[in-house]
Amino acid sequence: MKILVAVKRTIDYNVKVRVNADNSEVDLTNVKMAMNPFCEIAVEESVRIKESGVADEIVVVSAGPKQTQETLRTALAMGADRGIHIETDVDLQPLGVAKILKAITELEKPGLIILGKQAIDDDSNQTGQMLAALLDWPQATFASKVVFSEQEVEVTREVDGGLETITIQLPAVITTDLRLNEPRYASLPNIMKAKKKPIDIKSPEDLGVDIEPRLLVLKVEEPAKREAGVMVESVTELVNKLHNEAKVI
Ligand code: AMP
Repeated sequence: MKILVAVKRTIDYNVKVRVNADNSEVDLTNVKMAMNPFCEIAVEESVRIKESGVADEIVVVSAGPKQTQETLRTALAMGADRGIHIETDVDLQPLGVAKILKAITELEKPGLIILGKQAIDDDSNQTGQMLAALLDWPQATFASKVVFSEQEVEVTREVDGGLETITIQLPAVITTDLRLNEPRYASLPNIMKAKKKPIDIKSPEDLGVDIEPRLLVLKVEEPAKREAGVMVESVTELVNKLHNEAKVI
C-alpha cells in the first residue's frame, strides 16, 4: 500500500505571532517557519505504518512557495520516500488544497491519505474533511490511535469529553490529533540521505485545479493583553471581588 501524507509549511510553533501594521495578516517577515506540528505527527504515523509492514511507500506532498521544499526535505529525512511539491505563490485555502490533493490522489492512487487535523497558522481544520468529501472516501478525523487489519482500519478519535473508536474501509482519509505519536527527530545521516530523495515539482495548472481563494480575511487581531493579577489578603476579600468586581459568582 502507498500512503500519501500532506504537510504544510507554517510559522514555527515556538514563534510569538505578530500581526502586521494594517491588521490584514500575520507578519511573516524574518519569521522562522517549520513543518506544521500535526503534519509531523502525520509523517511519523506513516513511517510507523511502513515499518510495521502494512505500507511499502510514503509519498509526501506540500503546496506552497519555493521554500516549501525545505518542509518536504524534513519529511523525507523523517522517512518518507519521495516528495511532490505543488509550487504556487497563491495564498492557498483549504478547498484549494483539497482539490490539489484530490488531483494528486488520482495520479498516485494511495490506499491511505494522512493529514494533520489542522494547520496552526489558519486553524481551519477543514482540508482533510473536504478531501474525503471530494474523493467520496471514508474519513477518520482527530485520530489518537490507528490499528490496521486486512482492508479495515480501527481508529480511535479524540472527541469532546472522551474517545470514540470507529472502523473505516480503505482507501480512506485520516487526520492526526496530538496524542497519536511523538514524532522522531531526523538524524544527521537521514538528513543527508533525504537530499538525494526525489521531489517532483508541479503547478496547480499542471493538475488543472482551480485554487482561487473563496474566503476574504477582513481583519486579523492579536489576543487582548492579560491584565496583571491582584494579591488578596483573605478568602473573604477574594469572594467579595469575585462577586462584586468580576461578577462570576
Ligand atoms: P487546515 O485545514 O488548513 O487546518 O489543514 C489541515 C491539514 O491539511 C494540514 O495539517 C495538512 O496536512 C493539510 N494541508 C493544509 N494546507 C496544506 C498545503 N498547503 N500543502 C499540503 N498540505 C496541506
